[in-house]
Amino acid sequence: MAINNTVLNEGIMQIPSWWRCPAGHEKLREKAHAIGKNELLPRASISDKEGRYPRESLKAIAEAGFGAVTISVEDGGLGAGLTGFAVLAESFAQYCASSTMCWVMHTAAVQTLYSAGSNEQRQRYIPGVLKGEIGALAFSEPATGSHFWNVVSSAPRRGNGYLLNAEKSFVTSAGEADWYIVCTNYPDSIESDKLMFLIVDKNQDGVEYFPFSAMGLRGNASGPMKFKDVLVPIYNRLGSEGGMNFFNDNVIDPLFLLGTSACWIGIAQGALNAAIDSARKKVHQDTGQSVAGYQVIRHELAKAQILIDSARNMLYRTAEGMDQCIENGQTLSTCLYPLWELKTHAADIVIQVTNQALQVSGGRGYLTGQVEKYLRDGRAGALMGPTNEILREWIGRTLIEVPWFE
Ligand SMILES: Cc1cc2nc3c(=O)[nH]c(=O)nc-3n(C[C@H](O)[C@H](O)[C@H](O)COP(=O)(O)OP(=O)(O)OC[C@H]3O[C@@H](n4cnc5c(N)ncnc54)[C@H](O)[C@@H]3O)c2cc1C
Repeated sequence: MAINNTVLNEGIMQIPSWWRCPAGHEKLREKAHAIGKNELLPRASISDKEGRYPRESLKAIAEAGFGAVTISVEDGGLGAGLTGFAVLAESFAQYCASSTMCWVMHTAAVQTLYSAGSNEQRQRYIPGVLKGEIGALAFSEPATGSHFWNVVSSAPRRGNGYLLNAEKSFVTSAGEADWYIVCTNYPDSIESDKLMFLIVDKNQDGVEYFPFSAMGLRGNASGPMKFKDVLVPIYNRLGSEGGMNFFNDNVIDPLFLLGTSACWIGIAQGALNAAIDSARKKVHQDTGQSVAGYQVIRHELAKAQILIDSARNMLYRTAEGMDQCIENGQTLSTCLYPLWELKTHAADIVIQVTNQALQVSGGRGYLTGQVEKYLRDGRAGALMGPTNEILREWIGRTLIEVPWFE
């Protein structure tokens, strides 16, 4: 082994790029950061302040070629795999969490349509998505809360389709998306579970949506929806009449857990970057020291960065493992355990890191602005399903070798 003897740059330690970015994805990351800086960040605070859906930012993401990133190149997508998806989501989230969350949900919806849908359905929806149309997932219901795999709504047969009646508690991009994958039950299913997925277009009769007013992610329109006597034609059913739980475990959960974890990690890094910047710039005239000049502050920055990098390394290890699984022809449900650990950790550390970033930023961090926004946005992570309580239970059950799911 030959060791390079080059002297380090003026004693300043250079962080190797592979520590923060999986090999081969550097260009994608660079492009994502450029979009983040030029397109997402300038609109982020206005979207937060006014609770405005980040349509222009999502359009910019689609125009950059990121409308269907996990879909293969032959079918019109980017073919970036799950590692590419994670790199993009983590990078975007450093600039605008609302746009990123809408895009993560959209990407999971597109992949579900692609995986569970027919060729005809793919051809009907994928071209629109590449031009900037938005998809969304309408799963959680007020009756069963965060147990989004246990919906109570149903859609019995009616003529040449289904009569859908469903109440949804939170749908990211509610009223803004062009189409929704609605999870419901087919009451007469002969499958092992009755779950059925229906594609509902935005302008169908009986589709209602309601405002989203929340502490964070204020731009992402995650409000409730009602589907009242919506007639869904049979050609808009994805897959079979029931039995769709398979796609929960193999597409929706894996993409959702990976993408949202990337989002929490990106928010944490964005908050810490803002805190580092302000700690370096703010100088106390009496001591002549910058805030970053105090050792206790530097230790706080270090502790926060170590937490972020611990989650980031889990993120890319998991994403690369998932890509490997696909390559080996294995199903993604074999990756659920690492995804549970990843999401729980990412959603925990974002709370801790955004809190540290605010502390380091002093009273200025508490003022309405960037740092407090990161804290509000990141707080959603532990609450979004599967919540951290549910995930810790599944992890604990797995550790003592009893079935995780009852
Ligand atoms: C910003 C945002 C965006 C969202 N976007 C979407 C979306 O696009 N599509 C969608 O379908 N859903 C979406 N959701 C819903 C989300 O996935 C959860 O379903 C929702 O946050 C759960 O909230 P709840 O009030 O129903 O919780 P509840 O289920 O009432 O939970 C309340 C508390 O009980 C705990 N708890 C619940 N069950 C258990 C259990 N079995 N064991 C131990 N503890 C338990 C929870 O962890 C929580 O602490 C979104 C939610 C948010 C906040």
